[in-house]
Amino acid sequence: MNKTVICPGSFDPVTLGHLDIITRASKMFGKVIVAVLVNSGKNPTFSTEERMELLREATAGLDNVEITSFKGLLAEYCKSSGVDTIVKGLRAVSDFEYEFQMALANKKLNPQLETIFLTADADSTFLSSSMVREIGSMGGDISNFVPAPVHDRIVKKLRKQ
Ligand code: ADP
Repeated sequence: MNKTVICPGSFDPVTLGHLDIITRASKMFGKVIVAVLVNSGKNPTFSTEERMELLREATAGLDNVEITSFKGLLAEYCKSSGVDTIVKGLRAVSDFEYEFQMALANKKLNPQLETIFLTADADSTFLSSSMVREIGSMGGDISNFVPAPVHDRIVKKLRKQ
């Protein structure tokens, strides 16, 4: 489908779960914009630039994927960039309530906006950035959780924490 979609998130840092959703979306749509949320309230472990750089390296083989960042409301960002479809990954029942609320709120803010959910890959339903940060910072093996090309950079940063 020749359509541009947005995959938003914190990506602090990118995991194999994120990469699975981005890769599948890139096969289904003409262009995928991966939009890193600049969390002004939260204190991310990886800076916006680092998160974008890790995503760029992890998606280097996907020609129709573009990495960018945004501040503020996703609904506004979509409107200003002329994109009307959000693609998100849905891991478990625990994600559902929050994601359902967000999708409805975004539609109220921007009625053109549709949210599409892809079911998480069975192997990564348990995976989250916070789990990677926790295991990595304690010296655990995260090689099955993050994309191979960015593994070493993520480990180095987390061990410094
Ligand atoms: P988290 O910090 O929870 O890992 P993000 O805010 O960076 O997640 O998530 C961005 C998007 O990626 C969300 O749509 C989220 O549901 C999805 N996602 C996160 N982890 C996974 C995973 N393991 N499998 C599939 N989708 C995921």
